[in-house]
Amino acid sequence: MLYESTRDKSCRLTSMEAIKQGISKEGGLFVPGILPYLGNEELSALAEVDYSGRARYILKLFLTDYKDEDIDRCVAAAYTSGAFPPGVAPVASLYPGLDILELWHGPTCAFKDMALQLLPHLMTAAIKATGEQKEIVILTATSGDTGKAALEGFSGVEGTRIIVFYPLQGVSSMQRLQMITQKGGNTKVIAVEGNFDDAQSGVKRIFGSDLSDRLDKGGYRLSSANSINWGRLVPQIVYYFSAYLDLIRQGRIEKWQTVNVVVPTGNFGNILAAYYAKRMGLPIGRLICASNSNNILTDFIRTGVYDINRAFYKTISPSMDILISSNLERLLYELSDRDPGFVADLMSQLKEHGRYRVDGQVFSRLQELFWGDYANEAQTRAAIKETYDKYGYILDPHTAVGKFVYDQYWQQTGDTVETILVSTASPFKFPADVLKALGYEEDGLDETACLEVLSRATGMPVPAPLVGLSDSEVLHRDVCGKEEMKQAVLSYLKL
Ligand SMILES: *Cc1c(COP(=O)(O)O)cnc(C)c1O
Repeated sequence: MLYESTRDKSCRLTSMEAIKQGISKEGGLFVPGILPYLGNEELSALAEVDYSGRARYILKLFLTDYKDEDIDRCVAAAYTSGAFPPGVAPVASLYPGLDILELWHGPTCAFKDMALQLLPHLMTAAIKATGEQKEIVILTATSGDTGKAALEGFSGVEGTRIIVFYPLQGVSSMQRLQMITQKGGNTKVIAVEGNFDDAQSGVKRIFGSDLSDRLDKGGYRLSSANSINWGRLVPQIVYYFSAYLDLIRQGRIEKWQTVNVVVPTGNFGNILAAYYAKRMGLPIGRLICASNSNNILTDFIRTGVYDINRAFYKTISPSMDILISSNLERLLYELSDRDPGFVADLMSQLKEHGRYRVDGQVFSRLQELFWGDYANEAQTRAAIKETYDKYGYILDPHTAVGKFVYDQYWQQTGDTVETILVSTASPFKFPADVLKALGYEEDGLDETACLEVLSRATGMPVPAPLVGLSDSEVLHRDVCGKEEMKQAVLSYLKL
């Protein structure tokens, strides 16, 4: 299988090259040339195997230039019981009709681990197989969770270095602590004076700038661990299949019945993976896109207008504080029957005017597939409290946004088919806000104290990776302006 750019069809690469490169030179994103389709026989066979078996099967459909044994080795190294103690992606039942896909049992307590525990292995396998001589420098912008998950995945990985840019004021204190205490000689964490969009645009600008000569001379090659990298998306397709097949195995749904999915959304990577799974034959009905007060995607799905000329809010679901959702570009490519000219035109309108509109078939397809709504801060907190009071289950603020939007969806549409709510983070990653939502007094408590209070209040243990974080040594203190990111990269690489 070959990969093409959403803005230039003539550019065709193997999956190894697409993963090593991260983003196409003209700014487009790599997408698979065709989407594989799984019939009921394949689904039945996959229902019988464990998460790793499902991952191996699906990855091999996409990453055809990897040797089978390399994929087997990568999957075995990523989804260990050590990294995911209670299981890789268990599905909890909140009540009959609503299931929660818990994607946060990995080492950094957010769903980014699902892909970022695997990506470094895919990257090193590609480096070896292609005889790559240069050191791969992973540039990553984070809205909070990708940064730590990428650092955790790439720390100490031979042939790679990783630089993470996070918005100085835009991440939770737990997220920040996780990053600035990161060990590993090949890791670098830098705060940017700006928000996530500034950090992500800065990274994309570095990819687009003409640094290649200097990087070449230094023996470096840039790549990305953001969900613009195809290697981030393909592992995410797996858990939609896995969750559906688990529901069948547990008798919670009938074979091949349709389910809806609700995805707390920011950069549009996670919900795009659900869309791909649907296209690949998984019986998914509606893709319900949940946003926080940064509700640009809600407006887009309802009106066809994507407009970033609006206020930016800092919320208690910081990993969704995003106005420029990169992966929407991949969806637009599919909805336009893979028209790179159409996509390139929209993206240049976005760059120039901060706005574009889709209509006609693209818009009607968008509306058929997706439903969008958002939760404000009070609604998010209320969803945490209500879910705990009614079901004894604690949602993190991102998942709570999803729960609120799900309730809006079924109340407004009357559609109550079995639904999978994708849970993207552990509530312990946002202990102060969760405590506050539950009605506890958290003022004046530090992170460790909040964790303990939350643990006592809920009877749930603090996840091991978060224990003792406040006492860890701070190893990264750099701050740079949003126009200084390129310089920061060059000086870290001593170029
Ligand atoms: C990254 C993240 C999201 C948003 O996911 P996208 O793939 O960027 O849409 C939602 N919740 C949490 C906790 C996250 O870390």
